[in-house]
Amino acid sequence: AAAPRYVLEAKGLCRSFGGFRAVDALNLSVVEGSVHALIGPNGAGKTTVFNLLTKFLPASAGAIYFRGRDITKIGPADVARLGIVRSFQISATFGQLTTFENVRIALQSKNGLGWQFWRSRETLSVLNERTWELLEMVGLAYAASTIANELPYGRKRALELATTLALEPDVMLLDEPMAGLAHTDIPEISRLIDRARAGRTVLMVEHNLDVVEEICDSVTVLQRGRTLCEGSYSEVSADPSVREAYMGL
Ligand code: ADP
Repeated sequence: AAAPRYVLEAKGLCRSFGGFRAVDALNLSVVEGSVHALIGPNGAGKTTVFNLLTKFLPASAGAIYFRGRDITKIGPADVARLGIVRSFQISATFGQLTTFENVRIALQSKNGLGWQFWRSRETLSVLNERTWELLEMVGLAYAASTIANELPYGRKRALELATTLALEPDVMLLDEPMAGLAHTDIPEISRLIDRARAGRTVLMVEHNLDVVEEICDSVTVLQRGRTLCEGSYSEVSADPSVREAYMGL
């Protein structure tokens, strides 16, 4: 079999805050097309890793590679342009606009369409069609004209996913997609992520281990900024050091 192709790799990645090493010589290899989970106790460094990968924060040391290319030195806009996109947070959706408008704005921003766009009916209808496709994909077509702030929480998560997908990411970074969801909403959002993975890679921070077991191909366990263990869910969950870190996994 061919060696796995890594879409995203971190080697010896470090980030300190003052004298404290939040991310400490971290190695991470994300296989192209996989759904990869980043798990670990609170304070393990998961959010900091996301901030380093998207260049919201500069690394103190180490390197990041995208399809083998060193992207350690590029800025956040260039990372997004390469197709590495962090999921919109709910606070980043336009609460006073409709579901439909939110998705169309994301599509417009992807296509860099300014005022001239309004001059072309063809562009407008292509964008509208694509907006409907995305809304249907995440099960929000019925709520197209609902003001985003008035959507139930689980539906806001679906909208967040649609606006992220509008950017056609190659690598989608999801920061706790299940956080705050009623447990009845979890299977639905899991299914949407599973559907959204087609043709792309998903790296997600997730606390819900049932979800990780169900939809993730690989798991990296972080502890105190380091990789404790990496492998399939069954491999990492059988690892004594992981069992110890989680006590009672
Ligand atoms: P996780 O997402 O796994 O809970 P974080 O990446 O948020 O962990 O945090 C890792 C550690 O780094 C924590 O101890 C946290 O307090 C610390 N930390 C994170 N961001 C900052 C910051 N901006 N300034 C100082 N300390 C920080």
